[in-house]
Amino acid sequence: IGFVTGKDEAVGEAMQKEFARQQRNIELIASENIVSPAVMAAMGTVLTNKYAEGYPGKRYYGGCQCVDVVENIARERACKLFGAEHANVQPHSGAQANLAVYFALLQPGDTVMGMNLAEGGHLTHGSPVNMSGALYHFVAYGVDPETGCIDYDKLMEQAMEVKPKMIVAGASAYPRAIDFKKFREICDACGAYLMVDMAHIAGLVASGCHQNPVPYAEVVTTTTHKTLRGPRGGMILCREEFAKQIDKAIFPGTQGGPLMHVIAAKAVCLGEALQPEFQEYGRQIISNAQALANGLLKRGVKLVSGGTDNHLMLVDLSDSELTGKELERRLDDVYITANKNTVPGEKRSPFTTSGVRLGTPAVTTRGLKEEDMDVTAECISRSMRDDFEENIGAIRELVDSVCRKYPLYQ
Ligand code: PLP
Repeated sequence: IGFVTGKDEAVGEAMQKEFARQQRNIELIASENIVSPAVMAAMGTVLTNKYAEGYPGKRYYGGCQCVDVVENIARERACKLFGAEHANVQPHSGAQANLAVYFALLQPGDTVMGMNLAEGGHLTHGSPVNMSGALYHFVAYGVDPETGCIDYDKLMEQAMEVKPKMIVAGASAYPRAIDFKKFREICDACGAYLMVDMAHIAGLVASGCHQNPVPYAEVVTTTTHKTLRGPRGGMILCREEFAKQIDKAIFPGTQGGPLMHVIAAKAVCLGEALQPEFQEYGRQIISNAQALANGLLKRGVKLVSGGTDNHLMLVDLSDSELTGKELERRLDDVYITANKNTVPGEKRSPFTTSGVRLGTPAVTTRGLKEEDMDVTAECISRSMRDDFEENIGAIRELVDSVCRKYPLYQ
């Protein structure tokens, strides 16, 4: 940042302030993390200068010998980590990865089932405002209104009626484990492809803390920047029989030149995830999430599905006058970062919402433990009370006492 500040004061100053914000705040956005200095360094290298359209050994540009090595390392590590037959590490993002899979395996107008956005799915799983919903005929499945969980028997019934060409499993705001084996059985029964978008849980899968979808799905997509703790980007894993189709759908199908500096950072991140310490990291993410959930529940806060099996939970404000939007603002005020989110059976608009999503990947990387999660739960529950305004100073002090224990990048 110092180098940027010296050359470009305006951008450098904004970056310095963002660094200070990250140091000051308890980061509970479930889709964010804190990358290692090695991952960060890989992104700021000469690899950003290189054009490398194509794939290792088959490029459309000269001078690709060194970046070929980097991309091959990333592909091999991805296959080893998840037990996959083929990996494409070029998607610029999770959205790009999903779009390429649809482009590879579907025709426009084909019927696909994906999880309802309002109940935990992602925009790229068929929302009408996303290209997925505009190009393909998506039919949404949801969660049981009583339990907040996927009802696999109901899903089987729906799939047998709809007869989709593909079912997309995976979510952005689902606090429970997903049973990919059951999804496979449903897909086999109705003759559909299974695509799993494991963006949120990739790090939990890599650390052995969540069922691995790779043995069950034809194709698995992911982002690399959430629980996996890599650079912002995407990745596709598939069976060898789909490798050519998937590669063609990324380049030249939907992307141009790959971001080789980001692919280098993906390789570094995958190398880190292959170390034994990463398994402990996955366990601690879940243990911290459960400590936060229990801390909230014991203070009378309602959670969708009553808790969590993974890295995230959803505060349920359906019965409260407080909205998700207002709680997000209050938390920001006391230096806790989270995001408003719809909840199953949502009655408010997506801009207001009746929920707030909380996740533990970033705080776990920072070093926070179960006792810090209890302090965090206290801060959140105090922020929900009517006397919030009078308590801002005291809550900020509690947040500061936690953050000071775990300095960031020092
Ligand atoms: N898939 C899921 C399940 C996600 O949660 C997200 C992002 O939040 C994406 C895909 C999209 O990833 P990106 O923001 O990298 O396009």
